[in-house]
Amino acid sequence: MDLASVTISMISMGGMGALFATGLAVANKKFHVEEDPRISQVLDALPGANCGGCGLPGCASFANTIVNGEIGLGGCPVCNDDARETIAGILGLEAAKGEKIVARVLCQGGNYESASKGDYLGIEKCTAAHITGGGDKLCLYGCLGYGECVDSCPFDAMYMSENGLPVIIEDKCTGCGNCAEACPRDIIEMHPVSDTVFIACKNQDSPRDARKVCTRACVGCSLCVRGVDEGLMTMENNLARIDYHLYGQTHELPTAKCPTQAIVLMESVPEDDPSITTRVVHEKEALSA
Ligand code: SF4
Ligand code: SF4
Repeated sequence: MDLASVTISMISMGGMGALFATGLAVANKKFHVEEDPRISQVLDALPGANCGGCGLPGCASFANTIVNGEIGLGGCPVCNDDARETIAGILGLEAAKGEKIVARVLCQGGNYESASKGDYLGIEKCTAAHITGGGDKLCLYGCLGYGECVDSCPFDAMYMSENGLPVIIEDKCTGCGNCAEACPRDIIEMHPVSDTVFIACKNQDSPRDARKVCTRACVGCSLCVRGVDEGLMTMENNLARIDYHLYGQTHELPTAKCPTQAIVLMESVPEDDPSITTRVVHEKEALSA
């Protein structure tokens, strides 16, 4: 290639580059969208957990969505009332004080209560044990005890008890729902903190089989359904259910005596042990207190 060709190529490439740069600058000026300054203000007010509990990819996405009015103030499960109030102020809204939502573990089949089917030698992960029908407990509905929920908690709000069951530290739980998502047996549910009575079992075996697999299983006897307001307690697939809407209205206890103590009450006991903010009280205990 001679010198003239090189010079012409350089001039034309340079010209094209300058032309594209000018075009981009004009387009940028013409189509530039000013970011709403409230987005960064909301982002600053958010806890910054990026936990995804709002159903969006992270706090920045939540800030953008709430400023655009596509999600409500209660959409962030991690925000406390102060944060909600700050965000409401930025958006010119009235802050709604949401009730704290916490995780509840609905299984009492720990190492002492659950019957064993022998040593499990597979991968010690709940998901792996679940999909291979594994784990060393006979119950196919209960907690497998490998703590995948605990590992998933971004707030150190859980630990495994010495009996092999997850424990929620209510004060630290932000209600993000990661643990419920992580549990392959759907044993963890998110509930308003005022829901304090639970059927702590998910076993749907026949009454005879349920008795064999766990001493704390709901055995589907229906005793708890009798003697309470109609609809408050029902039976479904051999398992008692509580209607929390009715429970919220009456706060009536299921008064029947559950033979396996599968019905539990959560009681706050911060002064007894700062690491546990609730303890399980069995219905029989509560009624005799
Ligand atoms: S215990 Fe569950 S819901 Fe609570 S903060 Fe941890 S992962 Fe989230
Ligand atoms: S509650 Fe679920 S995730 Fe947690 S240890 Fe039990 S089976 Fe595993």
